[in-house]
Amino acid sequence: MIKKILIANRGEIACRVMRTCQRLGIKTVAVYSEADAEALFVEIADEAYPIGPAAARESYLVAEKILDVAKRSGADAVHPGYGFLSENEEFAEACEKAGVIFIGPPPAAILAMGGKSEAKALMEKAKVPLVPGYHGDKQEEKFLADEAAKIGFPVLIKASAGGGGKGMRVVENAGQFSEQLQGAKREAKASFGDDHVLIEKYLVNPRHVEIQVFADKFGNTVYLFERDCSIQRRHQKVLEEAPAPGLSEATRKKMGEAAVAAAKAIGYVGAGTVEFLLDASENFYFMEMNTRLQVEHPVTEYITGLDLVEQQIRAAEGHKLPFTQADLKINGHAMEVRLYAEDPANNFLPGAGQIKYLRFPTESDAVRIDTGVREAPFGDGDTISIHYDPMIAKIIAWGKDRDAAIANLKGALDQTLVTGPKTNLVFLRRLLESPDFKAGKVNTSFIKNHEAELLPAKQPPSDTAYALAVLGLLNDRDVLPSAQDAGSPWNDLSAWRIAGGDTEVFKFENDGKEAVVTVSSKKGFATPQLTVNGKPVSATFAPAMYDLSFDAKLDGQQYNAVVLHDGRDITLLHDGHYEELNYLDPLAYESSDNETDGKLTAPMPGKVVAVRVQLGDAVKKGQPLVIVEAMKMEHTIISPADGIVEKIHAGVGDQVHEKYELISLK
Ligand code: ADP
Repeated sequence: MIKKILIANRGEIACRVMRTCQRLGIKTVAVYSEADAEALFVEIADEAYPIGPAAARESYLVAEKILDVAKRSGADAVHPGYGFLSENEEFAEACEKAGVIFIGPPPAAILAMGGKSEAKALMEKAKVPLVPGYHGDKQEEKFLADEAAKIGFPVLIKASAGGGGKGMRVVENAGQFSEQLQGAKREAKASFGDDHVLIEKYLVNPRHVEIQVFADKFGNTVYLFERDCSIQRRHQKVLEEAPAPGLSEATRKKMGEAAVAAAKAIGYVGAGTVEFLLDASENFYFMEMNTRLQVEHPVTEYITGLDLVEQQIRAAEGHKLPFTQADLKINGHAMEVRLYAEDPANNFLPGAGQIKYLRFPTESDAVRIDTGVREAPFGDGDTISIHYDPMIAKIIAWGKDRDAAIANLKGALDQTLVTGPKTNLVFLRRLLESPDFKAGKVNTSFIKNHEAELLPAKQPPSDTAYALAVLGLLNDRDVLPSAQDAGSPWNDLSAWRIAGGDTEVFKFENDGKEAVVTVSSKKGFATPQLTVNGKPVSATFAPAMYDLSFDAKLDGQQYNAVVLHDGRDITLLHDGHYEELNYLDPLAYESSDNETDGKLTAPMPGKVVAVRVQLGDAVKKGQPLVIVEAMKMEHTIISPADGIVEKIHAGVGDQVHEKYELISLK
């Protein structure tokens, strides 16, 4: 029996594993980097040990440090979560050597599926269908270019050691091959320390459908059905659901059996995922196997009623699978979205920084929140660190069918509010509202093909938004008369007279245009009198007891809203709508965002990996100038206009901070 588990991971996943451990009465041990000393997972663990600096390669990726904590804490098992050391066979082996149970597959199974190339070779033998391509050892550019031509463009270059969509480049024609190969190799080297690549036929608009498999130590292997993860951006999953919409029962069974065959071929134990691409005729092709728990495992837990972490622990303890394939049934439909700190309006640039306000819906049988950051109803929340994945939470919902799951997930997003770093929350809501998505017409190009719908041009704020924003600002000040205690002397709004008479003026700016809201309240009146851009609006108002939200009635229409105010930035959430307003706060400092005008600066802290121009070069608008790697992704700094390179401020290998000037153009 496992009594104490060390979780060799952080954030959301560490919290997730601990949740099951607590339920099973298993003690938990956290390891944490300097950046995570105050993190939620450290707080909820029974014991916690520091393991060094923020950079993962000096903390979470150092096997010796983790094993040392296992020894000191007396943990009898290690759960690796996903990412970090979860698919590192040397770590799995080192655990076993140290007499600590590694909760995962045997090292040999991890190794067998470790490289995408080796895995494909193995699956070819096991007669699992593959995407046509080259996955051998030869890596000379000329040879690979010839193979690409043989396969036929478009092709996809993939890092053999890859994951998370990194080190992957689509090549449309022979002319682009060399540049894309170098980019893929560079990204692969930086992310995985290995620049071996493979080449595949790039399928047009396939679906990504993966099978969850589970095996015990006695060779019993089952499939826990599929997840459709076709909704992706830059080959990274954004939304996952189970079961796959519209998949035929026959294909489900065939894919399940192929996945079980793949797992059996390598002597698999525990939870694993076999990823396939599926074409419009339901032909499927093996992509890779992930020998660990997946980020999107909660949707499978919802439709099967199983706790996969519990099953992993039981399998590691040497228990037989408590069910057979025939016992397993799909119950309803589940859907997960990944809420990220990123800016959809700015090419989804990953964000970081302190969360100012965070509100999640209450969990229920139909809504689950997996997060590693804290809700902070009245104060500052946790920080999204530049050192790790910028995920804030996974929001998961269940319904008796797909429509019900979508409705529940949308309801959950409507109650979610985050301010601080920019997030993809509004983008996710739009996704759920998209008619094609609702109709189940998903494929891996869905987001690209629906950009106009998912990323519409910014609309100017409505008059309602301005009115609610002002009520929120007044609520913040705690001076607004509420309908409940009309006439109370405490509601004398005479302080407003500072602004002249008993009317106060609030100004906003949107795209160079000013919006003006005036508020006045005659003594004894329960309701403030508003005008928005000259139009009178009748309003009543009642603040909530337990948080910052308030109820308001504007011209007879009822609203529930939260307004957050940070300098000039106002974030308004009301009834599922989310708006950002620019308040001309007389007390706020001018924002310094415009300082970077005319300079080419780093979008975020990172490392310069390529400088594409030389001093004195004449450059054209749109030409790539510098490539900065940050959060394991490459960001290309392009020229905003035609010009001449006047100064180059950074060289390859330099670490640069956010807004660091990289190049000056004339
Ligand atoms: P990673 O391990 O980096 O996540 P995968 O091999 O799992 O990379 O692929 C990620 C995504 O890239 C897939 O879900 C799919 O959208 C796309 N993809 C991968 N291979 C192909 C291919 N041959 N043709 C078209 N799209 C592909």
